[in-house]
Amino acid sequence: MSNKHQHSPHTIKEPVHIRRNVAEFSDPYIDEENLPEGSVCKRCGAINSSGRWYPPDYQNPRSKEEHSSSTDTTRKAGSPSPTANANTEVVCPACRKLRDHAPGGILKLTGGFVWEHKDEILNLIRNESNKALNVNPLERIMSLRAENGEIEITTTNEKLAQRIGKAIYKAYSGSIEYKWSEDNKLVRVAWHRDL
Ligand SMILES: [Zn+2]
Repeated sequence: MSNKHQHSPHTIKEPVHIRRNVAEFSDPYIDEENLPEGSVCKRCGAINSSGRWYPPDYQNPRSKEEHSSSTDTTRKAGSPSPTANANTEVVCPACRKLRDHAPGGILKLTGGFVWEHKDEILNLIRNESNKALNVNPLERIMSLRAENGEIEITTTNEKLAQRIGKAIYKAYSGSIEYKWSEDNKLVRVAWHRDL
């Protein structure tokens, strides 16, 4: 079996690369540099340590090679598991966004393919979301609406909407488009595939 032509039939260049770290610079909800060490979110239990939020059940990731190339510049390599200081209860940025209905990302999936593969797609969304949550408790799905043949999710930050969109594009091809608001605080990801 020879295949001289290696080009893929559906090479659609993604118009914009994921912009890393934009959220950290422009996100008005990220203000934990003033928080006491070990501050605990009273809504979700996330713990702040050295300016970064950790999941309530955080384990030191030194054993997890898969995250060795993390793009999270605020993480300090090999930092110890944070110790919660129950006296300093706060509300973390993600929970404040949930409260204020202020998403950082909106992902909309349209086209006949969506409903035909609804369960698969919802599973993929859940998996990507859980993966992100284990690394950064501030990356969360805020809402998920699946109706009229379309799926729309909102996320607390722009990275998660992009990451899920990318995963769907990778799995199912189709077309994908990213649009940022002028102030860079909100990304709208639109994925489409007909049957
Ligand atoms: Zn929280």
